[in-house]
Amino acid sequence: MTRIQNYIDGQFFDSDDGLSLEIIDPSSAEKIGTFPDSAQKEIDAAVKSATKAFEHWSTSGPEYRSKWLFSLADAIESKLTEFAIAESRDSGKPLSVAKMVDIPRAVANFRFFAGAILHDQSEAYVDRPSVLNYTLRQPLGVVGCISPWNLPLYLFSWKIAPALAAGNCVIGKPSEVTPLTAHMLAETCVEIGFPRGVLNIVHGTGPRAGAALVAHPDVKAISFTGGTATGRLISRVASESLKKVSLELGGKNPTIIFEDADLEVASTTAVKAAFSNQGQICLCGSRILIQASVYDQVKAKLIEKTKALTVGDPLESATDMGAIVSMAHFDKVLHHIELARKDGGHVLTGGVRLHVSGRCENGYFLAPTLIEGIPHTCSANQEEIFGPVATLIPFETESEAIQLANDTKYGLSASIWTQDLNQAHRVSSKLSSGIVWVNCWMHRDLRTPFGGVKESGVGREGGLYALRFFTEAKNVCIKMD
Ligand code: NDP
Repeated sequence: MTRIQNYIDGQFFDSDDGLSLEIIDPSSAEKIGTFPDSAQKEIDAAVKSATKAFEHWSTSGPEYRSKWLFSLADAIESKLTEFAIAESRDSGKPLSVAKMVDIPRAVANFRFFAGAILHDQSEAYVDRPSVLNYTLRQPLGVVGCISPWNLPLYLFSWKIAPALAAGNCVIGKPSEVTPLTAHMLAETCVEIGFPRGVLNIVHGTGPRAGAALVAHPDVKAISFTGGTATGRLISRVASESLKKVSLELGGKNPTIIFEDADLEVASTTAVKAAFSNQGQICLCGSRILIQASVYDQVKAKLIEKTKALTVGDPLESATDMGAIVSMAHFDKVLHHIELARKDGGHVLTGGVRLHVSGRCENGYFLAPTLIEGIPHTCSANQEEIFGPVATLIPFETESEAIQLANDTKYGLSASIWTQDLNQAHRVSSKLSSGIVWVNCWMHRDLRTPFGGVKESGVGREGGLYALRFFTEAKNVCIKMD
């Protein structure tokens, strides 16, 4: 049993009123720990501590901050297996995925921004020989980082690392569903002697701890990743105090397979894109658009590859898909499958709860599900299910594929499969989404802009985009006689 505490001013505290909430392992439905149910008082204490730490941290210079971020990355990496086990127990994801993806990527986030801040540049403009303008990029102050449960440490670090590198002090609020690795991050900070107050982690629910952070008058910016409805609420509240806001929200991403694609590779990747992390990645390809001439061929491959996935105990090395993150989310995904059936959908494979014996007999396991035959206006093709459910949709022409792909309120990512370079460029430019992959999915380069359009978000993370978000540009104009 892990007893998580808040990490404020370099020390660990329970919530002020002693209230706590339970952590449930979704693969066994067992209680594995508790965390503080924090609210306004704990956020106030964290903001006070961060404000005090800001003066030194913000003026200490990039080398100093870089050194600390590299140290943090090294320390996390030295405990990679422990972090990965915690991530797997907390979220239900396969341990192999946490080991290969989540934790290494969190380490990479800290390393990337530790390096990036050493190479950050600013511009200068010489107007006439006697006038010089240059841009100072200064940290904002105390900022809030709010993250979801699907990639807990990975997405938490994706915000914290650039915020700290740029010279801000941070209040992090991880998801109540998956608080374990954020707590381990705090423990790691203590172990390496990370400067007090620079990073504070307050646990609790969104409506209490999260809302208090967003409304706090001394918090200058909120970087948020989560659902669109929550993002909209945060944007409204943050606008009252004119905070900067970055919103990375939901998606209903198309995988578009043209007839000339390498159908074997395209189908393999489409299955990976649909079901990785139990379909609980904002970038998952949950609508598979297939050119009509190869529809039956691709459909057969998708069914075969989906049926071959092993759903089971996340701690077993042979497991491809683990448990859905919580009972509430499991019910929501099943409800969406029922709606799809009512809308005329034909379940090609999956659609049912799976029972895993032994340690996991009470876990929340769902068979990976493919559905066809649903009108595009129906919820299974419009709403983000955020689970192991993908729909198959035929199209005739390139323009119809683009029209279908763009026909949702979301616009996060898309994956196009074709051997025709002209078609790849043409379609990429016409898709309403922040990210387009051609003949690949989820290929990652930390320097690129990451974010969505329409209801998938506002602003961009990644590389210089994140460093720009966490700084204020100040123009200095000097007239020289
Ligand atoms: P939520 O929007 O429910 O929660 C995200 C975070 O916001 C959690 O820490 C949550 O707290 C907190 N929160 C909830 N309400 C408030 C509030 N009123 N004020 C401040 N904070 C609040 O999302 P989920 O955790 O359910 O994550 C799934 C969603 O995240 C999906 O829609 C998915 O698409 C999206 N996502 C987007 C990504 C992107 O980059 N575009 C990447 C990954 C996920 P708590 O949970 O503790 O109550």
